[in-house]
Amino acid sequence: MTNSQILLVEDEPDIALIIADLLTAQGHDVAIAGTGPDGHRAATDKRFDLLILDVMLPGMDGFALCEAMRKQGFDGGILMLTARSQVADRVQGLQIGADDYLAKPFDPNELVARVTALLRRVGKEQLTPVTRYQFGGVTVDFSVPLVTRHGASVSLAAKEMQLLRCLIDHRGQVLTREWLLTQVWRHQPFITPRTVDVHIAWLRQKLEEEPQTPKHILTIRGEGYRFAG
Ligand code: CA
Repeated sequence: MTNSQILLVEDEPDIALIIADLLTAQGHDVAIAGTGPDGHRAATDKRFDLLILDVMLPGMDGFALCEAMRKQGFDGGILMLTARSQVADRVQGLQIGADDYLAKPFDPNELVARVTALLRRVGKEQLTPVTRYQFGGVTVDFSVPLVTRHGASVSLAAKEMQLLRCLIDHRGQVLTREWLLTQVWRHQPFITPRTVDVHIAWLRQKLEEEPQTPKHILTIRGEGYRFAG
């Protein structure tokens, strides 16, 4: 397996070096750009697996850079870094195509964990499409689509179905609310991480034997959700 290629666009040299050292120690190849336009050029010239974009950058901010890369068809992972932690900023980043979000200052272990998870998801996404899946008395046929529980048809709204598909395609992995938002609600305004929680609750009501103590759609405290088949 080749090393993951990561482009870090960060204008604060101290932070850039800390991040680069951390990720290099994990076996990744890290390139650094210090301005938005330099980052854009680097990401256009070479195929990276993951872009780590600071939001506040000279020349072109991280949001604009993220948006430009998605418009150019970049399909790797994008992790946004920012000093601001307002929900509005997070949602803005996710709506223009970022996969995940980390507020500064961050714990180095947290950064490494997010990068590892994101690289795994980016690499896995093409590998695990299932058309039919069974768990705990539930059968899902995504090709119809049709969901049955103990043989009886279960009615799922379109977003519930997309969310279930996302959970099943990434079964066993911890998925953050932010990432689930990008996958299921990408182009919709006025969404918040709470939207994910509400839909998860609905799915549990419809699919779990005991929705209050779910066995399949699990909450991972402080992180997000994990589907256990
Ligand atoms: Ca900055």
